[in-house]
Amino acid sequence: MNEIKNYIDGKMQAPISNEWLDNFDPSCGEVYGKIPNSGKEDVEAAFQAAEKAFPDWSNTTLETRSRILSKIADLIEEQLDILAAAESKDNGKPISLATKVDIPRASANFRFFAHAITQFAGESHESVGFNAINFTLRKPLGVVGCISPWNLPLYLFTWKIAPALAAGNCVVAKPSEVTPMTAYLLSKICIEAGLPPGVLNIVHGLGHTTGQAIVEHPKIKAISFTGGTATGEHIARTAAPMFKKLSLELGGKNPNLIFADCDYEKMLDTTLRSSFANQGQICLCGSRIFVEESIYEKFKIDFVARVKALKVGHPSEKDTNLGALVSKQHLEKVLAYIEDAPSQDAKILCGGKRVTIPGYENGYYLEPTIIEVKTNRCKLNQEEIFGPVVTIMPFKNEEEALEMANDVRYGLSATVWTTDLNRTMRLSNQLQAGIIWVNTWLMRDLRTPFGGVKDSGVGREGGFEALRFFTEPKNVCIQYT
Ligand code: NAD
Repeated sequence: MNEIKNYIDGKMQAPISNEWLDNFDPSCGEVYGKIPNSGKEDVEAAFQAAEKAFPDWSNTTLETRSRILSKIADLIEEQLDILAAAESKDNGKPISLATKVDIPRASANFRFFAHAITQFAGESHESVGFNAINFTLRKPLGVVGCISPWNLPLYLFTWKIAPALAAGNCVVAKPSEVTPMTAYLLSKICIEAGLPPGVLNIVHGLGHTTGQAIVEHPKIKAISFTGGTATGEHIARTAAPMFKKLSLELGGKNPNLIFADCDYEKMLDTTLRSSFANQGQICLCGSRIFVEESIYEKFKIDFVARVKALKVGHPSEKDTNLGALVSKQHLEKVLAYIEDAPSQDAKILCGGKRVTIPGYENGYYLEPTIIEVKTNRCKLNQEEIFGPVVTIMPFKNEEEALEMANDVRYGLSATVWTTDLNRTMRLSNQLQAGIIWVNTWLMRDLRTPFGGVKDSGVGREGGFEALRFFTEPKNVCIQYT
């Protein structure tokens, strides 16, 4: 049985209460580990360690900080196979995805911010005619909280921690209780890399207890949160009266707009990925597919054929396209949406059923599912399902496509398939989303701002945006005679 520990003040520690939670393997539905069920007292211990470490860490030279963060990146790379296997087992995602995407990206996050901090500087200018000079210092905030979800466990955890540490903050972090394993392995890597004790503290546990204790802590200065919109709303309500800085990266229900003039084969390949990568459990998946009327029937036939050929299998098998969903509760939630489809006048074109894999009968496997809907106003198109389920429907013209794309509470990303440059520009301007992909999907340059509008969140992460979030600007004005 794998027993995970908290990482507090540079040491691996059991929760003070000695209470533990079960960790499930989604590929077979069995408990395979124990994780700390941490309480307020563990969060307080983590905070105390972080506060104690802050004066030294915030005064550590950028070169030294950068060197330690680069070392963490190196060690993640060196341990790629171990980390990828752990991520795949904990989350149910195909090993190929963990090896090619999740773990390399975790390493890239540390490497990117190790360099970015050496390029990040305040501004200065002369106030002409006043004999004055203004300059802006960028000060770390102090102790900050980072809370992340289960879908891209180490990828998103490090996406927050790396810039927070690079900017000179100390961190109290909580990974999802559903996928804690790689965050635990990261603790060991941080020790090996020589990160000073208390600079990063990782506390495992449930959202409404451990997570809540981080958000409520009066001296934790900022919260960077990625997760569901309802949780984000709750966090905003708790943190706002304390004037905490907040970055909220929340849910999505992203449109994929396919025009007849697109590069059809590239669109089909990419749409397969943007629909079902990570079992559709990526906030950026294009779960609402709208297709121009003239190619709708052809697309429907081709897409269904391609989806039927995908292999649902054990996450550890190299040719698996879709592994297991993350948990029993999540599988049941996704199935409930599928079962409800007929009541919304929607038609299941393929998939929709649980998959039984011999030897792993209790695993949380589900067929990739395409549902044809009659209107964008139905529940299937308005609520985030966050599983291997996409809807498709035709549109008459650009105006109608745009209207349906924007007619939803979320605004994270949108994808457009067209070769018309004017249309590209018109839609890029008018689509209500933080990220627009044209003729591609999930291409991520870490320098670009990442985040959503409407109920998909507030604030931006990535590049200097993340370093701005994790620092406070302080203006100094000096007049001379
Ligand atoms: P979740 O909101 O249930 O949990 C996210 C994290 O918050 C977990 O660590 C959880 O323990 C913690 N948490 C829960 N309640 C809390 C509370 N009261 N106080 C503090 N922390 C609390 O989300 P999830 O189910 O883990 O993840 C799926 C969701 O995340 C989806 O909605 C998806 O769209 C979203 N997501 C968004 C992005 C993005 O960048 N916008 C990226 C990935 C996932």
